[in-house]
Amino acid sequence: MGDYDFIISDVAEEENRKHFLLGNEAVARGVVEAGVGVATTYPGTPSSEVGDVLSEIAKKTGFYFEDSANEIVALEVAAAAAMSGVRAFVFMKHVGLNVASDALMSTSYLGTKAGLVIMTADDPSMFSSQNEQDNRYYAEIARLPLVEPSNPQEAKDFLIYAYDLSETIGGPVLLRTTTRVSHMRASVTFGARHAISPKGAFKKDPSNLVILPATAYRKKGELLKRFARLAEMAENSKLNRVERRDGGGDIGIISSGAAYNSVMDVAESYNLKLDILKLGFSNPLPEKLVATFLKEHEGTIVVEELDPILEGKLRTLAQLHAIPSLIHGKMDGYLPYSYEYNPDIVANAFSRILGFAFKEKTNGDLQINEKLPARPPVLCPGCPHRATVYAMELVSKQLGLKNVIYSTDIGCYSLGVQKPYNEGDYLLCMGSSVGTAAGFSKSTDQCVIAFIGDSTFFHAGMPGVVNAVHNGHKFLLIVMDNRTTAMTGNQPNPGVPMNGMHEESPEVSIEELVKAAGVKFVRTIDPNDLRNAMQTLKEALRFDGISAIISKSECALLRDDSKKRNGEPIIPYEVNQEKCTLCMNCIRSFSCPAFYFEGKQVKIDSALCDGCGVCSQPLVCGPRAIEVKR
Ligand code: SF4
Ligand code: SF4
Repeated sequence: MGDYDFIISDVAEEENRKHFLLGNEAVARGVVEAGVGVATTYPGTPSSEVGDVLSEIAKKTGFYFEDSANEIVALEVAAAAAMSGVRAFVFMKHVGLNVASDALMSTSYLGTKAGLVIMTADDPSMFSSQNEQDNRYYAEIARLPLVEPSNPQEAKDFLIYAYDLSETIGGPVLLRTTTRVSHMRASVTFGARHAISPKGAFKKDPSNLVILPATAYRKKGELLKRFARLAEMAENSKLNRVERRDGGGDIGIISSGAAYNSVMDVAESYNLKLDILKLGFSNPLPEKLVATFLKEHEGTIVVEELDPILEGKLRTLAQLHAIPSLIHGKMDGYLPYSYEYNPDIVANAFSRILGFAFKEKTNGDLQINEKLPARPPVLCPGCPHRATVYAMELVSKQLGLKNVIYSTDIGCYSLGVQKPYNEGDYLLCMGSSVGTAAGFSKSTDQCVIAFIGDSTFFHAGMPGVVNAVHNGHKFLLIVMDNRTTAMTGNQPNPGVPMNGMHEESPEVSIEELVKAAGVKFVRTIDPNDLRNAMQTLKEALRFDGISAIISKSECALLRDDSKKRNGEPIIPYEVNQEKCTLCMNCIRSFSCPAFYFEGKQVKIDSALCDGCGVCSQPLVCGPRAIEVKR
């Protein structure tokens, strides 16, 4: 029995049964109910739990699931499946859609045979992302229908709706969640399952399916016609509805996605008499519905997170149809352009527009007067990345390197930016460390070191290596190979011998890829062996050209899991107080979070210690005071 077996339940009594699910788990149930045959992703928070569920249930359910090398590959696999008559689902975090956007634009032109739904999980407030982009713009530029659920039930139901819509119009549908919708937990009622179509048949039709310029020219016209048809469908969609609170009033609210939940919270809390137009199918805009709503109200407040996309369209619509309704939102300063909304933000805006007294309520009755200590994220106890950056720091000191530029990348190792390591100077996006290292190597005389993780290397780092070799750049590339995609929950990547469905699968060698690209200095190190790791790092730094070190050691969490599975104990370390000289190197320089200082003694918290033993080496603890706990 797996943790998610209930997600695939098929028996009649499961219909109408409620389950308390995360938004992402509800999406996974939607995949099952919709009969998706092929599902693909590149893991990224806040969408990653969808993959955690699908990877567990795919084989049992009879569909194909893959953790692809990156998002554009994921979309290409899904698009081809949908073109072969198999319902396909591809999901990713919002910045992943930037990577997939080239394929997205063409998929929109070519259309699909079976349903294709593309889910983007946006991250207002950037809880786990490098930017706050609003991916509703992708629906605009690719002329895709956009559905925006507000809660887990809708996440499941809208996904199923999206498949029917996709097959009705013969094109892909974009489903947008945000962190709040993906990570909120609520009751979800299950429905019947559609039959799964794991295999289809591709019908050749090159004049329509090979996007040469002449085809694209014709397809653009078809796309515009499809979009006009979609606009008609949006007018009558059940996903767009007017709710009249207490018979309604002179003020109307238009909202979508997670922001709608804050609107409802405020309406309930302040007992507001309002009409609310909830847009679940928001692109193309149902213009007749919206225009009628505007005409009915003296004023309309648009509540949407991030950019004023709906608001801009409403203002245009009002101007075109000479509708006198006053439109409020971000553009007139009542609501902010940034960060996730909460009921206080919305209530504050409403109070100024509607003229009632605003009372802050975020903490409810709970008054917290204590200022909580800041807890920045840290590398886990036993993390091999700590050993790598610590070894690099020692090498840098021993060689007297000054002003080293550390290009870093997206993964746990980006935490090397923090004290005491300070090994992170520039980070743009997935895979950028290799390209930016090349740029620094050409434009400065400084020593340049690039860090990249194994998953990120496969995702977008490889072209940077080819570029660096071909253009003669000089820097040290350190691939932090912890045998997983750790930051999003330990999903596999092409470098490990397992695929997304937990099947054995061929391992792609990073060493061989780097050598094949023409890098002449390639070595693999175990970072936990500090002395040897430092020796190799020094050799690599002396090499004239691009050198690559694969710093290979399993993620501490994976190691702990496999020990637990095999019934092996985790044996912690302790400080022998008779030998400890209180030099504090273990805390100040090595900085494993299992160390603490109490009663004038350095100690190790055995509940945190993962028993990696790296701190017991003389390069961390000179007096050899750290020993296996007896
Ligand atoms: S590095 Fe060793 S000697 Fe120094 S404080 Fe830590 S345990 Fe004590
Ligand atoms: S053995 Fe040392 S470095 Fe490893 S987890 Fe324990 S305290 Fe941290």
